[in-house]
Amino acid sequence: MTLTRHGAIVLGAGVAGLSTALYLQRAGVAVAVIDPLGPAGGASFGNAGLLSPDTAVPIALPGMLRKVPGWLADPLGPLSVRPSYFPRALPWLLRWIESGRLHRVMAISDAMRALHKETMTCWQELLGPVLYRELMRPVGQVQVWEGDGDTTNAAVERQVRERLGIRADVLSADDLRQMFPGIAREVTRGLLVPGNGYTVSPQRSVRTLGDLFRQEGGTLINERAMKLIPGEGGGWMVMTNLANRSAEHVVVAAGAWSRQLLDPLGIKVPLETERGYHAMLFDPEVTPSLPIANKTRGFAVTPMEDGLRIAGTVEIAGLDAPPNEERAKILVGHAKRMFPALTGEHVQYWMGFRPSTPDSLPILGPAQGHAGLHFVFGHGHFGMSGGPPSGRLVARLITGQAPGIDPAPYAAQRFR
Ligand SMILES: Cc1cc2nc3c(=O)[nH]c(=O)nc-3n(C[C@H](O)[C@H](O)[C@H](O)COP(=O)(O)OP(=O)(O)OC[C@H]3O[C@@H](n4cnc5c(N)ncnc54)[C@H](O)[C@@H]3O)c2cc1C
Repeated sequence: MTLTRHGAIVLGAGVAGLSTALYLQRAGVAVAVIDPLGPAGGASFGNAGLLSPDTAVPIALPGMLRKVPGWLADPLGPLSVRPSYFPRALPWLLRWIESGRLHRVMAISDAMRALHKETMTCWQELLGPVLYRELMRPVGQVQVWEGDGDTTNAAVERQVRERLGIRADVLSADDLRQMFPGIAREVTRGLLVPGNGYTVSPQRSVRTLGDLFRQEGGTLINERAMKLIPGEGGGWMVMTNLANRSAEHVVVAAGAWSRQLLDPLGIKVPLETERGYHAMLFDPEVTPSLPIANKTRGFAVTPMEDGLRIAGTVEIAGLDAPPNEERAKILVGHAKRMFPALTGEHVQYWMGFRPSTPDSLPILGPAQGHAGLHFVFGHGHFGMSGGPPSGRLVARLITGQAPGIDPAPYAAQRFR
């Protein structure tokens, strides 16, 4: 095998990898991105497309522990753990529960906010004004609740918003019916978060990052990284399924698969996959004017350029178990309940692997003790929002620029 040398190699062509690659390239580094599937072949393909600079509430919140029996008992619940996978997921789940303590939630939300508040700016920097206008809709998001009861953690969410000065406008049942004609009577309350937005196509947005990367001189390589080997004179060699490639800097941005590349180096990171599903309605009878996150049932509907996407649910079952399409069908049922005019016909189901850390913060920055190795993964539920600012942060760290935000809360060392 011959050895091909690059300035930097990024492993993974999802939103995290391509954002990093573009920022690095624009800082003058010769970059190659390696991914067997090409741009947007992973979670970046089928997410709900919500862009959330004003969302700073982690997934693990107080009171998680008492919910564990329910997760195991109900395979179709909004959050389920496959019993056969439970022993493997247990260490991660314990850290997750620990992250849900109130004082941790407040510290995590500060770091989420610091990263996410630059979401729209970074998408604009990456895409340029014309493509940004074509693909992004910075027009707000709506959250809704059914019935009278608050969801358990509504008070924590309110506290986070108030601490961080995030605007959210209360919507009454009448407001909701005016904004979304045909919405069911069961939907009684809402919140408009005007600082958030969405993309009309996650896959096209991320593929566009790939196109720009290539047009600006980057190299996209359809290979699978098999092993990372420290170079004798510094730098790294990446053994792929077809070639040996070397670079001074290697960035691991392989989403939920990142751990597979790090375990052989003895680098332990608490990365688990929270599998999520979507159902795409190509010919919907209802198209809401804004994305709606239904907090009572834990799903979102997003108006996209090719139809209505209903996305959500968390399934902890690892990288190998086959999808359970029943979970996606339940999403259609939820959407029909929220908008009774929907028939749910012309539908396509999808499952993707969220790359999740226990504290909902990504793992970003240099690998301690492994010069030239860098991390940009672990964005969990928020990669379309956090991916671009993460790429900018890590590219700045690699090229010796001022990072702009404190990188410490995202360092892998926080888990030691
Ligand atoms: C149902 C669902 C809804 C979601 N909704 C939202 C949302 O509304 N808003 C939001 O911000 N986020 C959302 N997310 C989360 C978001 O999709 C992810 O956080 C984000 O896509 C992760 O991006 P990534 O680049 O890290 O990983 P991915 O997009 O998964 O990309 C990783 C890439 O690495 C490649 N790879 C794997 N192994 C190797 C290897 N050995 N060598 C080279 N390449 C490799 C894969 O082929 C893949 O292309 C959602 C996720 C799901 C599943």
